Amino acid sequence: MKKVLVLAEVRDGQLRNVSLEALAAAQALAEGGEVVAAVFGADAAAHAQALGQHGASLVYTSDHSALAQYTADAYTQALTQIIELAGPDAVVLGHTAIGRDVAPRVAARLGYGLVSDVTGLEAGPVFVRPIYAGKAFQQRKFVDGKIFITIRPNNIAVGAADPAKTATVVPVELDIKDLRSIVKDVVRKTSGKVDLSEAKVIVSGGRGVKSAEGFKTLYELADVLGAAVGASRGACDADYCDYSMQIGQTGKVVTPDLYIACGISGAIQHLAGMSSSKVIVAINKDPEAPIFQVADYGIVGDLFEVVPLLTAEFKKV
Ligand code: FAD
Repeated sequence: MKKVLVLAEVRDGQLRNVSLEALAAAQALAEGGEVVAAVFGADAAAHAQALGQHGASLVYTSDHSALAQYTADAYTQALTQIIELAGPDAVVLGHTAIGRDVAPRVAARLGYGLVSDVTGLEAGPVFVRPIYAGKAFQQRKFVDGKIFITIRPNNIAVGAADPAKTATVVPVELDIKDLRSIVKDVVRKTSGKVDLSEAKVIVSGGRGVKSAEGFKTLYELADVLGAAVGASRGACDADYCDYSMQIGQTGKVVTPDLYIACGISGAIQHLAGMSSSKVIVAINKDPEAPIFQVADYGIVGDLFEVVPLLTAEFKKV
C-alpha cells in the first residue's frame, strides 16, 4: 500500500500503547510505503515526536475544542476531513471504544472496507481475527480497494522508538459543525491504576471471590504485579465490583500476557473476552471447572489461601 494513516489516541495526556501497535501494523501494511498519523486534542502536537519515532513520517494535528473529548459526531467529521486531505489506502485504529465507534462510520461515509478486531497480520496482506466469540480465527485476504482496520490491543509487537526519526507536524484547520452532542464532563470508573484493556497482566475475580471485600485480596496481588483487576459478569451482577471491570462477550475483550482467573468458572461468555490471553492461570476449588480447559496453569484450591501466598511470593522477587 502506498500510504497508511493511523488515528492515534491520547488518554489522560498519554499516547495509548495501542496507537503504537497501530503504527507497527501500518508499517507492515505499507511495506515501505508512507505511514502518516493523526492525533487530536489540546496537546496533540506534543505526541508527534513519539509517533515519528515509531514510524510516522507526518502527523496531522488538530486542537479543535470539539475534539477535546470523544464524540462520534466530531470525530467522524474530523477523521473524514483528514482522510480526504491525506488520501490513504488504509486507515488503522485501535479496536478501542473510540476505534470501534468511529471506524465504521467513516468507512461507510467514504466507501472504504473495514476489517475489525484484527489480532494478526500476514503477508498478502491477510488479516487474522477471532470469530465465534474467540473459538476460531478467520483469515481475511485484502484484494483491492481502500480499507479500515481496527487492531485488538496487545497483539501487534511495538518496535523500539528510533530517536533519529522525526515526523513533520501539520496542524489542520478542521470544519466541525452541526454537532448533535457535546461532552460536558467525563466521570470515569476505573478498576485500578492500570487500564484494563491495555494491561499486560490482569488479576480477575468471579463469583468465587464472594464479596466486594474479597476483591481486596485480588487488588493486593495486582498491586505487587503492576496488574489491572478485572471481573466476571457473575461478580459484577453480585455487586462485588463495577461493570466497567467486566471481561467477556458483553464486557471488555482483553489480551494480556498473563491472566489470573480467581474463582471464575469459565463460562463461554467469559472465555470470549480473555481466551486469547498469552498465559492463563486459573485458581478454582472445583477441579472440574471449565476454566481449566483453557488454562495453561491450574491451581485447584481456595483462592483465599492461594492468592495471598502468591502475593507474598511475588513480593520477594
Ligand atoms: P460462577 O459460574 O458461579 O463460578 C464461580 C466459580 O468460583 C466456581 O467455578 C467455583 O468453583 C469457584 N469458587 C467458589 N469459591 C471459591 C474459592 N473460595 N476459591 C476458588 N474458587 C472458588 N459472563 C462474563 O464473565 N462476561 C460476560 O461478558 C458475559 N456475558 C454474558 C452474556 C450473555 C448473553 C449471557 C447469557 C451470559 C453472560 N455472562 C458473561 C455470564 C456467564 O454465562 C456466567 O454466568 C458468568 O461468567 C459466571 O461468572 P463466574 O464464573 O464468576 O461465576
